[in-house]
Amino acid sequence: MTRVVYVNGRYLPYAEAHVHAEDRGFQFADAVYEVCEVLGGCLVDETRHMRRLARSLEELKIAAPMTAGAWSLVLREIIRRNRVSNGLVYLQVSRGAGRRDFNFPVAQVRPTVVCLARSSAAGKGDSAASKGIGVKTMPDIRWGRCDIKTVMLLPAVLAKEAARAEAAKEAWLVDAHGFVTEGASSNAWIVDRDGRLITRQIDNAILRGVTRTTLIDVLQRQGLKVVERPFTVEEAKAAREAFVTSATNVVMPVVSIDGQPIGNGFPGLLTLKLRADFHAVAEIAED
Ligand code: PMP
Repeated sequence: MTRVVYVNGRYLPYAEAHVHAEDRGFQFADAVYEVCEVLGGCLVDETRHMRRLARSLEELKIAAPMTAGAWSLVLREIIRRNRVSNGLVYLQVSRGAGRRDFNFPVAQVRPTVVCLARSSAAGKGDSAASKGIGVKTMPDIRWGRCDIKTVMLLPAVLAKEAARAEAAKEAWLVDAHGFVTEGASSNAWIVDRDGRLITRQIDNAILRGVTRTTLIDVLQRQGLKVVERPFTVEEAKAAREAFVTSATNVVMPVVSIDGQPIGNGFPGLLTLKLRADFHAVAEIAED
């Protein structure tokens, strides 16, 4: 349960945590966000998440609302005040509130900052991973700058809803050439019949997932190679293993695509090993 939310410099009770009616995040999706995993009360991969936040802000010319040191304090305080041991921290930054106008406000406006933390049910992630998830493929109808982590998430909302209608937990988005770009809220991976790990290369069509980057560190330590290239839905359906990566799900096995079982229909052994090894390599923040 979220008890306390940080809004523009104040820690407020959940029911009193509001932003302005003319916030540009609400009116234009003129805002960016980050989601970090919390493990044992500590932030996972804080440095990479905060670096990506800084890049998202720069790309959209939104002023940095606070220093790295201040962010670090707010994140820790929101975890502490919500007594989160294992869970997630969400932070959102919009360009600010102002009279409705497509153009950026001429006057200096203060970016709006919201930060909240919530606990995950104990063992939920591992229990899901022991079964694996189904994914549904859908056309990727998003814009050309998916490398920026904006709150413009309507395509992801619709794709996940369509996936849920078919009892799938995630949607895999497919470009005009039949290649999987990424999941609606995750990066997509396959292990081919020869044991090669394949995930799409970084470009403007996908978000550079922090979990993806850290998993590549895990692979390097284990002497495993990753092939960064686009793969088709057909290749994915014929793969030995498939999985997704995200801060919310770490490494999550995919056991079916559009209802078709992957491999033997059970979570892949390499996938489960990578999930088990992940946190030994990820940066776990000191308090
Ligand atoms: N792609 C998209 C579209 C996402 O929304 C996310 C999760 N925020 C990811 C990939 C995975 O990113 P990360 O590993 O940093 O959570």
